[in-house]
Amino acid sequence: MKLLLVEDEAPMRQALEEILHRENYDVVSCADGEKGLDEAVSGVYDLLILDVMLPGKSGIEITENVRAQGMKTPVLLLTALGELDDKVKGLDSGADDYLTKPFQTRELLARVRALCRRNVAAADGQLIAGDLQLDVGSSVLTCTENGQQVRLGEKELRIMEYLIAGQGTITPREQLALKIWGVESEAEYNNVEVYISFTRKKMAYIGTHMMIKAVRGLGYELKKA
Ligand code: CA
Repeated sequence: MKLLLVEDEAPMRQALEEILHRENYDVVSCADGEKGLDEAVSGVYDLLILDVMLPGKSGIEITENVRAQGMKTPVLLLTALGELDDKVKGLDSGADDYLTKPFQTRELLARVRALCRRNVAAADGQLIAGDLQLDVGSSVLTCTENGQQVRLGEKELRIMEYLIAGQGTITPREQLALKIWGVESEAEYNNVEVYISFTRKKMAYIGTHMMIKAVRGLGYELKKA
């Protein structure tokens, strides 16, 4: 797996490089947005990890450029605490996920693994978690153990896609709301809960052993029941 890291703060960049190298990722890093964009559009990377605030071009501008060229390389944005506007803009720009600084190493690695896995799975449109298989093209969710299938609605599909991509981590409710509805408000949070409950009913219907666990005050995790 080849990763591009664009981060202008040297200590942060070096620490991230070291962590990712240790996990056997092939990492190329740069410190400014212009160079970062040149690298990003080369098409050789499996994942782009972009700081938002960068000299030259921001992580959001890099993402927009990459998407404007039709490239689907997964993007993980790194944002500073409290930059909610940046998160919204970042996800609108076509980024797949974001991490708020400061973050824990294991959280970073879980997101990186999930995004790399999603990239591989996205090649044939099948996302897998335990005995669940999601065909993104047809929105059909299958329990591979018994062959039972159900079709998901549009929002349910996106929730499931996002939870499968984040398996092994808790997906914050705020992040689901941002990703699916694009804005943050109490109404949207309630929507998330409503659609999570629809999705759970469909999962129960096909008899999967996976479940969506609500982690109080944090978010949701797709895991084995
Ligand atoms: Ca920065």
